[in-house]
This record gives sequence, structure tokens and C-alpha cells, in this order.
Amino acid sequence: MRRLVEALCSDACAGRAPGTPGGALARSLVLDALRDEGLDPFLQEVPRCRGANVLAEIRGDIDRWVMIAAHYDHLGAVGGRIYRGADDNAAAVAILVEVARRLAADPPEGRGVVLAAFDAEEPPYFLTRAMGSEHFARHPTLPLERIDLMVCMDLVGHALGGEELPSEVRDTVFALGAERSPGTRDVLIDTSEPGVFVRPADAEIIPPLSDYAAFWDRERPFLLLTNGRSRVYHTPDDVPAALAWDKMAATARWLERFVRATCRRDERPFRFVRAIDDLSTLESLLSVLGPLAEVSPQARVGLALARDLRAQVGRDRTIPSGRHAELAMLIAGLESGLA
Ligand SMILES: [Zn+2]
Repeated sequence: MRRLVEALCSDACAGRAPGTPGGALARSLVLDALRDEGLDPFLQEVPRCRGANVLAEIRGDIDRWVMIAAHYDHLGAVGGRIYRGADDNAAAVAILVEVARRLAADPPEGRGVVLAAFDAEEPPYFLTRAMGSEHFARHPTLPLERIDLMVCMDLVGHALGGEELPSEVRDTVFALGAERSPGTRDVLIDTSEPGVFVRPADAEIIPPLSDYAAFWDRERPFLLLTNGRSRVYHTPDDVPAALAWDKMAATARWLERFVRATCRRDERPFRFVRAIDDLSTLESLLSVLGPLAEVSPQARVGLALARDLRAQVGRDRTIPSGRHAELAMLIAGLESGLA
């Protein structure tokens, strides 16, 4: 993973902006990495950004699919400074290739897996028709309704907070959107892996932040894995040296398990539902704020608010809508406190 991340973040890739020589080099690195694992990757041109998505398939026993996705582009070079995008999103691409390696060597039972390294996720293409994932959704290489779950990774390379914090905090990965497909949260909770704590939260705790937006818009089940925005987010300091390699390796092992379990699921197809799950969000916040409160007075205030909101959760797993602003405040505070 380290070799691929360093190549994607090199001077030669120059920040991987779509339509640039550096973007094309990054694409060929991803293609080669997947080929090296015995896969047969192919390109989907995205003319509006002069770039392309890199796709690969691992066939299953049935013609239904689980997608693993991560964008490989980044902001390019601005004013002579290279934005290397190690956490955003070279780390996720390396995890994608690592999971692909494991799945190609021993294909999952049931569904097949489609791997998607999308181009043009970053501004100025974000949420436009030139965005690689949006282009894919408009021109899918396999019918969208055959993709039962789209698992998107963005910002999954860093640890949360400083080295003095316990692993339950630092090695947290948030998983958003499980509430949108019945059964997904159960698989998430049942899948554990030493070295990482994958914690469910409702998709609406943040605005649509990445490639899953194209699937959510079309009411296709999705899951976003993210560690949130770090201090170096969208700065030239987002470099490989700041990554948490052990956490990334654990995330890859966890994702392999989760994808295998998802491929085996009986439901065909997965249903999309418009459910809200504040309970999972609050339980996950409490798990992180608990250990944090021992070292941070700010976290103690947050913990008290989280407990108060937790007490308001109804049988439908939601808090009264009048209190969502406080929940949003709590999440923003936690993200910046751990950045
Ligand atoms: Zn970004």
C-alpha cells in the first residue's frame, strides 16, 4: 500500500488533477496495480473532465454486485505547490487495491465485486455531470439496480487525534448510510477486525461529501467509510508521512470481511429505504467521547450533550427534529477537535 500511495503522491503525478499528465499517470498506476493482482481492469472515459474511471470486476456466482469505490484524483498543483492528497484519496485507492488483491486470490461466495477508482471527485467537478461517479451512474457499465451496495471510501488514511489518545478513538472509521438499506447495519456490527473500530452513523450527519452521492440520488444502497477531515485536508501538507499505515491495513482487512459477508447476503435485491438512524450516530459518538472526556474538558461538555440527546431517542431511532442542530454541532465539534 505504501508503494502505491507514494507513487500516487509523487512529483510526477503532480496532484492528479483530471485531464493533466499527472492525472493520466495516476490512472496508469491504478491500472497496473490492479493488473498486478491478476485482474483485467478497463477504462471508462469521462469526456467532460478529459479523464477516465478505472474499473475492474471479480465475477460472482450470481449476476448481482457489490461495488468498492474510491476516487483517485486530487486538486493538482496550485501556484507551484503540489497538493498530494495522501489521505484524500491515495490511501483509499491503496486500500481498494489491497482488498481487490485478497478478493481476486479467493473470490467471495455469492455476489461479484466491481472495483471503481473514480476520476474527478474534487472541485471544480464535485457534484457536477463531469464527476467520475456521476458519469458512471449516468452511463453504468453494469445496470445500477444490479449493484446491491456501493461502498465508498474517502479520507480513510489518518488516525483521529493525537498519539496520546487511545486506539478506540484514533482507530475509529465512521460508516455512514447503513440505515438506508435494511440489514446492512447488522452486517456492519457483526464484522470486526483488530486494529480498527468501524462505527455506524447516519448519512445525514454531513452533506453529501463524495462519490456515494450519485448512488444516493438514485436511491441505490450505499455506505461511506470515512475518518472525517483532518487538519491537513485540502492543503499541501496532506502527505504520505502523515498517514496511519497500521490503521489502513486493518481497514483493508475489515473491508474484505465486510464485502465477503455482503456478497453472501440472501436479500435479492437490497432495498433502499429513507430511514434516519440518530441512535447509531449517538452510540458511536458516545464510544468516542467517553475515552476523550478523560483528557479533554471540551469532550466532557460534548459527552454530556450526547447523553442528553441519547435519552431523547424514540422507538424509531430518531431524536426530535428540533434537536438535530445540536447533534450537527456536536459532530462538527468532534471533527475539528480530532482533526
Ligand atoms: Zn477532497
